[in-house]
Amino acid sequence: MTFDKITAPSSGEKVQVEQGRCKPTHHPIIPWIEGDGVGADIWKAAHPVFDHAIKLAYGGERKIEWFEVYAGEKAHAMYGESLPKDTLKAIEEYKVAIKGPLTTPVGEGFRSLNVALRQIFDLYACVRPIEYFDQVPAPVRHPEKVDMVVFRENTEDIYLGIEWPSQSKEAKEVIAFLHDKLGVDSILPSSGIGIKPISPERTKRLVRRAIRYAIEQNKPSVTLVHKGNIMKYTEGAFSQWGYELAKEEFANQTITEKDVTEKHNGVVPQGKIVIKDRIADAMFQQALLRPDEYSVIATMNLNGDYLSDALIAQVGGLGLGPGANMNDEIAIFEATHGTAPKHSNLDKINPGSVILSGVMMFEHLGWHEAATLVRKGLQKTISNKTVTYDLERLMTGATLLSCSAFGNAIVENMK
Ligand code: NAP
Repeated sequence: MTFDKITAPSSGEKVQVEQGRCKPTHHPIIPWIEGDGVGADIWKAAHPVFDHAIKLAYGGERKIEWFEVYAGEKAHAMYGESLPKDTLKAIEEYKVAIKGPLTTPVGEGFRSLNVALRQIFDLYACVRPIEYFDQVPAPVRHPEKVDMVVFRENTEDIYLGIEWPSQSKEAKEVIAFLHDKLGVDSILPSSGIGIKPISPERTKRLVRRAIRYAIEQNKPSVTLVHKGNIMKYTEGAFSQWGYELAKEEFANQTITEKDVTEKHNGVVPQGKIVIKDRIADAMFQQALLRPDEYSVIATMNLNGDYLSDALIAQVGGLGLGPGANMNDEIAIFEATHGTAPKHSNLDKINPGSVILSGVMMFEHLGWHEAATLVRKGLQKTISNKTVTYDLERLMTGATLLSCSAFGNAIVENMK
């Protein structure tokens, strides 16, 4: 494969993906995007952690061939645009990539580079695991009860940005159409307008992915989170289509919460995954009061955005929040925080988010031993109370480490 301004590594292989699963690989080429702001800092800490875990787990038998590709400010300096074709080509070719945070460029026509990547590749699932590491300072009394994975639909909903400003020609035309053709008379003529599409096809592919994950990982339940009591034909339909999909495709492996209550005396039959739904506002309360009753969450774009950040706050904050955007072929793992510009180039920020995104990537590749080692190193580093500023300011008796020293400590603590 040839590129305009970058050269692929001369050794290494393409990851082969079949039905969303990577075939065994020992020497994959992985494109990575440094990102803007604190991107350079987190990668200086993360690369040694990844490479060391692989070496420790597999000797010389497995290795990642890192292939730097460009997006954001570095890309702009090199190509005169923030999301060059080279980068898209590399991701499309090599299937698994990992990235740091990106600033949204002003005046390039992108709402956000992250949203652009999701839309270009139709990365329909944003997957965000929320996992507690022992002794991480947390604002709730029992953070250890939080163990959830949010599957957020990435390609629909009000979040897509199909909207027109107040007084624009388009907003006025939509308002006139709604008034004249559909008899809607409750919209003020001066309103801005946004559109919220939710389809059965895109709902079902997301819920399918969430249920498959629950089956593969032996999770007890999948909860459909929606605000369907009010938005009946979008959010309500999401829930209805989610139940439909479970019945159509996973009847042997799943049971509804209603059937557990009405037909099984409240006891879940052996080996069945419970499908339930919760209204979004109630779910936020449940996440704080009874988090251990929830495991896999499937929800729409905006709810998922809010809920995953609220959940990660319960177990240590953005610095420890990994994520991935994926479809059935391509997966882009990413630090979920932003570019935190006031902290950039200070070797200060917590690199945990991109490091844990790498753990997700290892698991996606089937490299579970390397993933376990990174988790072990991170857990020991936190237990030793040697942490970056965000955790240090909340812990008593902790030692403050720089971003790179935190990475080095994880490497040391893997042994
Ligand atoms: P942000 O960059 O996530 O930073 C907000 C605050 O969160 C930081 O000031 C810091 O709080 C804390 N924080 C973020 N990352 C952290 C880490 N790794 N370790 C510890 N603390 C961390 O959000 P923002 O300031 O709203 O956004 C800045 C830019 O990033 C914007 O251009 C936005 O569009 C972009 N953005 C990109 C992505 C992405 O690429 N995935 C995501 C979100 C935002 P304290 O200063 O209080 O410690």
